[in-house]
Amino acid sequence: MSLLTQSLSQLQLQLRNRQLSPQELVHALCDAIEAGNEAIGAYLSWDREDALRQAAAADVNLPLGGLPIGIKDNIQVLGQPCTCASRMLEHYRAPYDAGATTRLREAGAIALGRLNMDEFAMGSSTENSALGQTRNPRDLRRIPGGSSGGSAAAVAGSLALAALGSDTGGSIRQPAALCGCVGLKPTYGRISRYGLVAFASSLDQIGPLTRTTADCALLLNHLCGHDPRDSTSLEASSEDFTRHLNTGVRGLRIGMPAEYFIDGIHPGVRQAVDRAIAKLSELGAEIVPVRLPHTEVAVSTYYIIAPAEASANLARFDGVRFGHRSARAQDLMEHYQFTRQEGFGDEVKRRILLGTYVLSSGYYDAYYLKAQRARSLIRQDFQQAFEKVDCIVSPTTPQPAHLLGALKDDPLAAYLEDIFTIPANLAGLPALSLPCGEVIPQPGEPALPVGLQLIGKPMDEARLLQISAALEQALA
Ligand code: GLN
Repeated sequence: MSLLTQSLSQLQLQLRNRQLSPQELVHALCDAIEAGNEAIGAYLSWDREDALRQAAAADVNLPLGGLPIGIKDNIQVLGQPCTCASRMLEHYRAPYDAGATTRLREAGAIALGRLNMDEFAMGSSTENSALGQTRNPRDLRRIPGGSSGGSAAAVAGSLALAALGSDTGGSIRQPAALCGCVGLKPTYGRISRYGLVAFASSLDQIGPLTRTTADCALLLNHLCGHDPRDSTSLEASSEDFTRHLNTGVRGLRIGMPAEYFIDGIHPGVRQAVDRAIAKLSELGAEIVPVRLPHTEVAVSTYYIIAPAEASANLARFDGVRFGHRSARAQDLMEHYQFTRQEGFGDEVKRRILLGTYVLSSGYYDAYYLKAQRARSLIRQDFQQAFEKVDCIVSPTTPQPAHLLGALKDDPLAAYLEDIFTIPANLAGLPALSLPCGEVIPQPGEPALPVGLQLIGKPMDEARLLQISAALEQALA
């Protein structure tokens, strides 16, 4: 088996037995990236020498000792680029480590490579990157999903062993589903947001993208934990997430929300998801119908709250303190105007305009306040459903990966694709996507992965991983 398709725990064993050195692993990965990145475009940058320095210092007896992890380009790693795939930060280097980066380092991991994304994490195809196109390793004509498209493509294309992504409305789970890997968005507050470039602070969470459920649990073990530098970080947030990986699903109650099994889902996606649910039932879980009646307002609610927060967060890119500064400006107004005009791409500008509008006086109550009320109703829907069930199951996305460019001029159609992933962010709940089958879009074309989403109660990641592991084994 090739080195780069093995699981983190397999590699960990070889590192500890000295059958493999961290330097060999870094070389193997950098060779693979140099050979494969031109086609896939998962990485925006990588630094072999820096990774080798980290490898030389790595203690293989630490939990992630000597294992290189790829990092989305909006999570800071001291001294490395952190562009957010934006012209605005094209030449910016991180002045400190993010909380998640510190955790990885403390566990002995090596931070290797900066992964492409939609600019400032706004998008679901990675086509909004200002710095390069990422392609789906399963079919290079197709999108990898987004915004953590580089992370998912690197993991699925064997250019990374595992990666970090961020998820504001689906940006870990959706690309994981479209590329065929496991992606988990933890409960809001589980993983520190310190050093994650903010998009929508009440929704953003960092999380892992991996090839297996066990790898996901292993990484999560070392990413979680309280961080006083993030005021929303939860107190008791670390635990052993691997503890239920072999428990099975017998006796668990799994909810099937009617609102997530609707017209408009690709028939191949529906079939793969139905089969996975039948498998869960065969394995001894009880499938229970549930209702989440406010699902229909989730997308519109998100596209008010997320742009509102983004417009405030992105105000800091004023050409004074960070990144790009226009050379054309003659006075202060032009300085702001040209800097932001040149630095931001179209989607980012669209979000800032939307966000500024919904927060403006006269419209605030009609949009922002109303969206906050809708958000509470969506949260209550889940609370009620979780009185009856342990977990909720759904497709991760209504469609498999589309062709590059297919939705580029139709942002509204792209927004609607987030319908199944957004509610978990609005409610702050943990959610995971795992591969559950394939669909062949046209006869003779490559098969595309389908993702199954599991949404859990707050802090119930271990349960999601338990179900994911059982299903992964049963579908293998
Ligand atoms: N696709 C959604 C958006 O464009 C979600 C992005 C994300 O989770 N970062 O906002």
